[in-house]
Amino acid sequence: MSVTESTEKAIEELHKINKKYTCFVTTTEDYARKRANELTISKKKGALHGIIISVKDNICTKGIKTTAGSAILSNYVPTYNATVIERIEQEGGIIIGKTTMDDFGFGTFNVNVGEGIPIPKNPHDISRSSGGSSGGSGAATAAFSSNSTVAERLAPTHLSLSESTGGSITSPAAFCGVVGFTPSYGRVSRYGLIDYANSLDKIGTMGKTVSEAEQLARVIFGKDAKDETSLVVQEKPAKKVKKVAIIKEMLQGVDEKILTAFWKSIELTGIPYEEISLPSLEYAVASYYIIATAEASSNLSRYTGLRYGAQEEFSGSFNDYFSSIRSKYFSAEEKRRIILGTFVRTAGYKDKYYLKALKIREKINHDFHILFKKYDALLSPSMPIIAPKFDEISKLKPIEIYALDSCTIPPNLALLPHLSIPIGKVNSMPVGLQVICDSLDENTLFEFGKQIESLVKYK
Ligand code: GLN
Repeated sequence: MSVTESTEKAIEELHKINKKYTCFVTTTEDYARKRANELTISKKKGALHGIIISVKDNICTKGIKTTAGSAILSNYVPTYNATVIERIEQEGGIIIGKTTMDDFGFGTFNVNVGEGIPIPKNPHDISRSSGGSSGGSGAATAAFSSNSTVAERLAPTHLSLSESTGGSITSPAAFCGVVGFTPSYGRVSRYGLIDYANSLDKIGTMGKTVSEAEQLARVIFGKDAKDETSLVVQEKPAKKVKKVAIIKEMLQGVDEKILTAFWKSIELTGIPYEEISLPSLEYAVASYYIIATAEASSNLSRYTGLRYGAQEEFSGSFNDYFSSIRSKYFSAEEKRRIILGTFVRTAGYKDKYYLKALKIREKINHDFHILFKKYDALLSPSMPIIAPKFDEISKLKPIEIYALDSCTIPPNLALLPHLSIPIGKVNSMPVGLQVICDSLDENTLFEFGKQIESLVKYK
């Protein structure tokens, strides 16, 4: 099939998928056709030649609306591309649309969206969430057809670019039964990513298999002069994984049936493991929500109705104008995080909350560092529950939702690379296995991930 033909086929599929699962905020058919023509004319064949790419809507795309899932940015059209977008285009990837997400990444179920922004549905059961905050990417990755399997690693047809601060790639990947890859902090440039929490944000990938997620990741890896926190990495060959650790604290609160599926998959891999305890993880969720909201509340101060997004007729004083815009366009969850984040870094309280959270983060980083001297990888369930129904989510309190990040927050807080790999089903819904490796050791992570994937699927 020519690139023009495969793009037309993908556009047709895109319409069907989006009608059923509402996973896109914006679809970019004309842009995709134009790119397909350009690729046909140019003789160059890049690493993503003709592959359809969907992009989480907090990654800036020149001339294409980028909302970050928030009503305050519902009409924002960036004048530049994020570095990851430039790299994808250089390698021949074709961007087909922007996927829906929780506003600014604030959520686990993709239900915290601004007015006019769709809530995606889980392709395995449309009465359930597709996870969050990258719920649109998860649903799209599960729904697009593919001829690439674990056994025959053919060229993928669709891949998705997503982002995680505290678990936003793992949650939708696990709930939708696809592979989600979150890189080490600094491996991928954040230039052009709309900030949630700068010290935690990482752009990653999703695909049907580990190889697919890796293929897109390899294109976006690398130092970028436009992002000072991006790193030059000396590639080391993948280690052979001889011993792994399972951390007891990351099994707490996990649904019994998911635990059974988890232990069964460990047995299938036959990898020697030790069960250990990391007591500092008890404070991981609390520490994350203090640090993440402190940074988010500061980042969100730029949305005042003057420079970006929502604007109205200016009247009264600046304070009145800013307040009216922010009151009107920020959602309940955005306001909750601004209030919490501002509080924890207020002069009188910062020692008690923000600085203490930073110390806990340091301690957790240190503890992981020691673990990787003894173990080659860590394993846990990806999420403590299967994808919940929308009517169940509406009954949960914010603090109960935050607590469901107990498996995903540890590697995100410690900036460690991790994968979520589908391992089976519980009550007809997919469940995932989370694999964590040492910082910047993506090579081991991908190789080990592929090994697990084939052992678990084919036994
Ligand atoms: N659920 C977490 C939060 O709401 C993580 C989201 C993310 O990684 N963007 O902060």
